[in-house]
Amino acid sequence: MTSATESTAAELSAHAAAGRRAAWRRLAAYVGRNKGYYAFWLATVLAYTAAFLAIPVLVGNCVKALRLGLGADEVAWRAGILAGVALAGAVVRFFSRILVFNAAREIEYEIRNDLFAQLERLPRSFYSQWRTGDIMSRCVNDTNAVRMLLGVGVLNLIQTPILYLGALGVMFSIDAQLTLLVMLPYPAFILIARTLGRSIHHWSLLVQEGLADLSHRLQESISGIAVVKAYAMEDAMARRFNETNQELYRRSLGVVRANASMPAVVMLLPATAMWLILLVGGQKIVDGGMMPEDFFKFAMYIYQLTFPTFIMGWVVALVQRGAASMQRIDELLSIEPSIQDTPETQHVESIRGEIEFRHLTFRYLGENRGAVLRDVSLHIPAGTTLGIVGPVGSGKSTLVSLIPRLYEVDDGQVFIDGIDLNRIPLKTLRGHIAMVPQESFLFSQTLADNVAFGLERTDAASVRAASERAQLAKDVADLPHGYETVVGERGVMLSGGQRQRTALARALALDPSILILDDTLSSVDAETEAAIQRELDRVFKGRTVVIVSSRVSAVRTADRIVVLDEGRIVESGRHAELIARGGLYARLAQEQAEVNHDGSPAGGAS
Ligand code: ADP
Ligand code: MG
Repeated sequence: MTSATESTAAELSAHAAAGRRAAWRRLAAYVGRNKGYYAFWLATVLAYTAAFLAIPVLVGNCVKALRLGLGADEVAWRAGILAGVALAGAVVRFFSRILVFNAAREIEYEIRNDLFAQLERLPRSFYSQWRTGDIMSRCVNDTNAVRMLLGVGVLNLIQTPILYLGALGVMFSIDAQLTLLVMLPYPAFILIARTLGRSIHHWSLLVQEGLADLSHRLQESISGIAVVKAYAMEDAMARRFNETNQELYRRSLGVVRANASMPAVVMLLPATAMWLILLVGGQKIVDGGMMPEDFFKFAMYIYQLTFPTFIMGWVVALVQRGAASMQRIDELLSIEPSIQDTPETQHVESIRGEIEFRHLTFRYLGENRGAVLRDVSLHIPAGTTLGIVGPVGSGKSTLVSLIPRLYEVDDGQVFIDGIDLNRIPLKTLRGHIAMVPQESFLFSQTLADNVAFGLERTDAASVRAASERAQLAKDVADLPHGYETVVGERGVMLSGGQRQRTALARALALDPSILILDDTLSSVDAETEAAIQRELDRVFKGRTVVIVSSRVSAVRTADRIVVLDEGRIVESGRHAELIARGGLYARLAQEQAEVNHDGSPAGGAS
């Protein structure tokens, strides 16, 4: 593909047109799946149109009966038919709107589910390239806009022209000259309606953006409340919030103004048309060239058409916005995950746990900096424990996140059980590897649910066993509802060490073939860390464990330790060998031992 800088304007616009076509195709597919709704709706539109056209004719009939002096009974009978048709029209209209709005809601629901499924499918690299706010807005605002397009938009775009065709047909058959006459003010009116419709649309968009700003501010000050309080910034935060809130208020007044102008203009059109009819038609009636009942029919059609005509400006803006939104949704849905199973994927059902890196060089996608890992070759036999140490930024987390294939590597660089990583089904791979990331995430659910997160279902026995091994069980008794304690957003109810041990328990509950701990125990005190390690040695005998740590104490018992520096393996061996070597590892051990001598613990408090 040509890059944007090399593309000519023609190529760019062809690209944009292709994007629009793809969006419409996708939308058409959603509509197609719900075509039952829309077909039924079209039938109700035709029924409603019949009532819409009949009512002025029936009013004319009553007027005619009055003019001919046909008697009270006859008039009452004709008025009864009129009332019946009006009632039927109202009922049909009610169901008609329900049908089309239901269809729109149904499609909105489907799109949201599809978007969410896509978000779950996309790899980590996607999330470093797209902003969260942008993703959220596509899932929330854009689906809203598409719903409006499919509901109010489709309703008016299809119904209004049908009503017009019918009404103009009847009016022409009565008096062609008069029909043309009353149509005279329409172009000017449509222009005004369009301007006003755009203005309403414009202000509503501004209000929506203002609301987004406001919730962003709100969210930030809620999640940052600890910092706000520590720095005594409450007043400053309140001032900033007020500024945003005031801007939102100003924009809302714009909507109020635009909305208020609408009924005013709505009154003007029929009044103008009536004036024209009376001017010309009045003379005709006096001359006997037109019956009064026909005059009534004209007047009623004009009144009935006013509102649908008027909102066309707004509807067009809404459809345009919906189309743009559908394009943004399509863009997100069209992304093919760079990490997924392919035809080359082999049939692999379980994993023993042998890991091998062969001359692995890795750089993050879209980053212009050099490689994060350089020529890393490393063999971890199944059932052994590997320790990885190294300074911050040396590439430890990057290296281990390649094992469950969180980022993409080329073929021939990483092998599990001797099979190229890219050939192993993702489900098998991730089902047998448990990784506790550096910053693990707890959900706002109970402790038990958080531990059981990777399991098919929450099973109390496994939750307990995993918590025991992770040295979490001893803390559970102190929690208000034990395992059923809701841990709060991101686990705020728990201390840093408890959060880390919960994440560890989550990984242990999976009973994986390969366990990866990425600096998982940094906030756990040295004593608990030692206890966890004894448990791991016991429980994970025969399985592969990779422990990343900035602390030498966490890896000293490992079968093998590698030291990473600037993306390269600079040392490798057992603890005693590396100490004897007197290199980077020995230096790190020395520094950390001194810290311990000062009496302060190597890590933070639990
Ligand atoms: P460590 O775990 O040893 O502290 P990392 O593997 O986290 O090191 O980071 C190694 C390098 O890669 C750092 O320079 C870091 O800035 C960069 N890096 C880490 N994660 C990403 C990412 N998602 N996108 C781009 N660069 C990254
Ligand atoms: Mg790290």
